[in-house]
Amino acid sequence: MASNSDSNVTNRDAFRQAVVNTLERRLFYVPSFKIYGGVAGLYDYGPPGCAVKANVLAFWRQHFVLEENMLEVDCPCVTPEIVLKASGHVDKFTDLMVKDGKTGACYRADHLLKDFCKEKLEKKDVSITADKAAELKHVLAVLDDLSADELGEKIKEYAIVAPDTKNPLSDPYPFNLMFQTSIGPSGLSPGFMRPETAQGIFVNFKDLYYYNGNKLPFAAAQIGMAFRNEISPRQGLLRVREFTLAEIEHFVDPEDKSHPKFPEVSNLEFLMFPREKQVSGQPAEKTCLGEAVSKGIVNNETLGYFIGRVYLFLTYLGIDKDRLRFRQHLGNEMAHYAADCWDAEIECSYGWIECVGIADRSAYDLRAHTDKSGVPLVAHEKFAEPREVEKLVIVPVKKDLGLAFKGDQRMVCEALEAMSEKEAMEMKADLESKGKVEFHVCTLAKTVTIRKSMVTIAKEIKKEHQRVFTPSVIEPSFGIGRIIYCLYEHSFYTRPSKTGDEQLNVFRFPQIVAPIKCTVFPLVQNQEYEEVAKHIAHMLTAAGISYKIDITGTSIGKRYARTDELGVPFAVTVDSTSSVTIRERDSKVQIRVNVEEVASVVKEVTEGQSTWNDMLSKYNAPQVPDDE
Ligand code: AMP
Repeated sequence: MASNSDSNVTNRDAFRQAVVNTLERRLFYVPSFKIYGGVAGLYDYGPPGCAVKANVLAFWRQHFVLEENMLEVDCPCVTPEIVLKASGHVDKFTDLMVKDGKTGACYRADHLLKDFCKEKLEKKDVSITADKAAELKHVLAVLDDLSADELGEKIKEYAIVAPDTKNPLSDPYPFNLMFQTSIGPSGLSPGFMRPETAQGIFVNFKDLYYYNGNKLPFAAAQIGMAFRNEISPRQGLLRVREFTLAEIEHFVDPEDKSHPKFPEVSNLEFLMFPREKQVSGQPAEKTCLGEAVSKGIVNNETLGYFIGRVYLFLTYLGIDKDRLRFRQHLGNEMAHYAADCWDAEIECSYGWIECVGIADRSAYDLRAHTDKSGVPLVAHEKFAEPREVEKLVIVPVKKDLGLAFKGDQRMVCEALEAMSEKEAMEMKADLESKGKVEFHVCTLAKTVTIRKSMVTIAKEIKKEHQRVFTPSVIEPSFGIGRIIYCLYEHSFYTRPSKTGDEQLNVFRFPQIVAPIKCTVFPLVQNQEYEEVAKHIAHMLTAAGISYKIDITGTSIGKRYARTDELGVPFAVTVDSTSSVTIRERDSKVQIRVNVEEVASVVKEVTEGQSTWNDMLSKYNAPQVPDDE
């Protein structure tokens, strides 16, 4: 079977052009609002694109939601400000932007600097010295770490200008990527279109935990649209402003991140690119997942389990395993609270693209929503036997505090109760030796004097019947559009027409992805054959097999070419009233079967009960017809 490298389309850009032209011409996707000139970063999926997406999502549900008994939810896209304030998106979901000083056109500052460095390095600009090349490589390595000021300095130092006009650029400043809106007509209730689906799951944690019988671990899942007002969308479907995310939040006890099903994936071997290899300039290497976890390269079994399951998901869909790697986040890429993060990256004509992020986000999200909402998002572990534990007990004496601080009494009480063990024990020692201590109350923004009579601090032995804790969350987050685009590139190849004067396009989609499972053609236009074609169509519908019927008078070769371009695995040609041929897309080999058997043959093969090879043996005398 042809692959990208043996197809005659060798050049990356030309290859991409061929794929994208086919996709747009056959309505897999098209720019949205095209008749009005389109809008960058917005795309419509046409009929085959919708079918491919539905197939990918159906398989996602089967592979993750069904297999792991996940709790699926479906939450609104419009989200009130307080939720995204708690999650940190209102303050921190920003990219640094620069503006063309004259036209006002906007660019992502880090992208301009990245493009500049890459171009200099890739073109092997003879004017740059070895030192300069090392410097540019260093800039690329620390790009994600640069502050607005540092980025601005580099842009000035390298004299980077607006790519379209060559005008000077403004200093970089943060731009929040969320689309803002207001909920209801008053304009008083600010909201945003969600930038990810995860927050909907976190805010429902308490109810989901109860639904799960107050048991951990469990996972919740959500498929839905996410919205990001990208500064300069580029690379087609890869960076868009509205896209489908499929996210899993797997809640687990932070003290036990083992996974009972890890042995099912531990023998898998695939390309892994740990932090150390990236930093020391070594390539990604085929690694056994079990070893990566036992050596501590991957932080824990549950994270490892999901890495393995993501690998199986992507390769089953048709992603080439040699162009798939799992790259660990560098220290500077990872949020401060994250325990470990790995991206499933797929190589396509745009380079290595992050398609799935798999992160151990520790207890950050649930804690943030607990703090903001006041609703404890926690789990309980009941002990078989009560356990004795030493507990710090801080009891503010409200009467004395009230006399001393009047209206500030409540804030002082809360601050005393919130002291860490270390602070409390230091205060206890000071109160015992000096009788009073100076104490800063952040919420009042002032320091007050606490006397011995105002608080008792002691350590007591208490019996505990349960442990209360905030679960950690392990989050695999799938960019469905990115996966689908990479799948298009990995499935695409060209082959010469019969005459050899043109290249025919083919998508070799696996059966589960193929937008349509078979086409039905009467060989020539006559009523008898059309009746047979309709009868077959009727049987295919009854069997639940998607099909397309083509009764145009075009040559059979042209009709095969059209169906190959949509990636349809089987073409049924009606050339008699009793039996027909079924042709397989990639080998072009045909078998002859009775009309009444067509639907069951196609169903068996597309649903995986039999293989095409089984059918070749059953219906012998396979042949490639003259007309191809
Ligand atoms: P993030 O929350 O930024 O890690 O994104 C989660 C996943 O969403 C990524 O792994 C990508 O596959 C996908 N993604 C992020 N931004 C975009 C975008 N602008 N267009 C399409 N997919 C995206």
